Amino acid sequence: MSDWKKTAAVAIIGGGIMGVSTAYHLAKRGISDVVILEKDLLAQATTGLSVGGIRQQFSLPANIRLVQHSVRVFEHFKDEFGVDINFRKAGYLFLARSEKTWKDFLSSVETQRKYGVTVEVLSPEEIKYRWPYLNVSDLKGGTFGPEDGYTDPYLVAMGFASSARKLGVRIKEETKVTGIKVASGRVEGIETTKGPILTPVVVNAAGPWGGDVAKMAGLDLPVRPFRRQVFMTKSFNAIPKPVPMVIDQDTTFYFRGEEPGLLMGMSDRDEPSSFNTHVDRSFMEKVIEEAVHRAPVLEKAKILRGWGGLYTITPDNNPIIGEAMDIEGLFCAVGFSGHGFQQGLAVGLILSELILDGHTHFDLKPYIYDRFGKVKQEGERKVV
Ligand SMILES: Cc1cc2nc3c(=O)[nH]c(=O)nc-3n(C[C@H](O)[C@H](O)[C@H](O)COP(=O)(O)OP(=O)(O)OC[C@H]3O[C@@H](n4cnc5c(N)ncnc54)[C@H](O)[C@@H]3O)c2cc1C
Repeated sequence: MSDWKKTAAVAIIGGGIMGVSTAYHLAKRGISDVVILEKDLLAQATTGLSVGGIRQQFSLPANIRLVQHSVRVFEHFKDEFGVDINFRKAGYLFLARSEKTWKDFLSSVETQRKYGVTVEVLSPEEIKYRWPYLNVSDLKGGTFGPEDGYTDPYLVAMGFASSARKLGVRIKEETKVTGIKVASGRVEGIETTKGPILTPVVVNAAGPWGGDVAKMAGLDLPVRPFRRQVFMTKSFNAIPKPVPMVIDQDTTFYFRGEEPGLLMGMSDRDEPSSFNTHVDRSFMEKVIEEAVHRAPVLEKAKILRGWGGLYTITPDNNPIIGEAMDIEGLFCAVGFSGHGFQQGLAVGLILSELILDGHTHFDLKPYIYDRFGKVKQEGERKVV
């Protein structure tokens, strides 16, 4: 308790990718009187459980831009943070079964190309030629982003955290924020299990708990947690490497390489919102069924282990980023709807710009705080 400082220029709630990236970017700009409060351990919640996918194939320009920024950081991560994150540009192959999905892919490709994304449009025959292990009999086609890929999300978050620490950021693990003090429309501080902190700026980067944290300041955010399960196979050599991220958009089944085996998963669109992260064997059977349908050779793969994590979903599959409308000093970055790991690198920069400059050069229109229930905006369509 002796090193507990009762004041901070900025207090960040949550030590996942959003929290550590924001802290790093603030400290890099010279604001090192920053404290991260993490109720458990850094990057052990959603960030560490993510499958680390990075793709520029989004339907909305703003999401493309966020990831384009992040990719530049991933590419030079070792130079900036001294950590080898094993960024594998194995590509993302999106597959369409239905006519509706295929048309949607083609429309997204137009947007992606307009924003400089390299993306190939492939017929089922072309897909079969390049990835002979895939069953293409029920496909309309696919799109392949050769610049896309995957990395290790835990290493990335820890790279940010250790660089932030070196710049003076304080990181308090096993410290839960229990209250946010607001007076006359301004943030004044936070309550935690280790004591209070007076601060004019609070960042809600609490991932799936972002709605609960918002409630501490009297705000109701439409973000809800949903379980997502992932399964890892034992060593598997029947598919040549590198294995891209292959996504069957109509079922959301996906798999990718994770040497020496594979990772695979799928969304259960019928499952209600909850904080449940247990692995469900009967759901695993469904995932295996889809896996064997898409790549029959996977019949020979053996599951090594599985885990559950939480997506934090908003009604339009876009995050909420920015300062709360009626509470000065309360910033938020939640609701990343399954693509927050890759966007976190840009979002930390954005939050630092909003906090220090009051504006950012990124387009935040799709992400503004009070968009829900007002003008209907186009949401992100390419979600898994
Ligand atoms: C199975 C799965 C696969 C995914 N795959 C991908 C992918 O391929 N690509 C991609 O980009 N994204 C992916 N995602 C999404 C991505 O992981 C998340 O969007 C991202 O990690 C969110 O980061 P975060 O920092 O907002 O949240 P988190 O990593 O959850 O961090 C929030 C932190 O806040 C802490 N916290 C909460 N409440 C409090 C409190 N009151 N006091 C103190 N601390 C608190 C939590 O303990 C937690 O550590 C995946 C997610 C899952 C579950």
